[in-house]
Amino acid sequence: AYRADDDYDYLFKVVLIGDSGVGKSNLLSRFTRNEFSLESKSTIGVEYRAITSAYYRGAVGALLVYDVTRHVTFENVERWLKELRDHTDANIVIMLVGNKADLRHLRAVQTEDAKAFAERENTFFMETSALESLNVENAFTEVLTQIYRVVS
Ligand code: GDP
Repeated sequence: AYRADDDYDYLFKVVLIGDSGVGKSNLLSRFTRNEFSLESKSTIGVEYRAITSAYYRGAVGALLVYDVTRHVTFENVERWLKELRDHTDANIVIMLVGNKADLRHLRAVQTEDAKAFAERENTFFMETSALESLNVENAFTEVLTQIYRVVS
């Protein structure tokens, strides 16, 4: 159980990756502070090799996020997965996350396609909306639960 910054039973490093603009910052702020922001001030990408390694080092979980309204962000999941697997331990827990599920009329990636991809790649899968608070808590807690199962 989490009690205070310096007093906890478990400390797991979980990374959030995926193309710029897919909603990583908002998923995190929704989960940690129940906040959402409509303005898009893009996160600076992790580009330099040294920084990439440092970002992934020690990670035991990952949320690999794409945007269900932008198919290219789903196509790039393969590249992110390769980078992740190149930089982390083989038994890292990976959750594929299709975010912006609230934009139903703009959907470009079908749930079944993503589900099939996740099964092939042995990752967990969930669709979320940081805007509507859909499945955000579930996505994070499922990753943490699975990590706990791996380490205990
Ligand atoms: P990041 O670059 O991956 O960190 O993406 P951001 O969290 O900065 O989000 C990029 C843009 O998408 C912002 O304008 C957000 O308001 C918007 N956004 C993020 N999550 C959602 C969502 O679940 N639904 C909708 N409709 N917009 C979202």
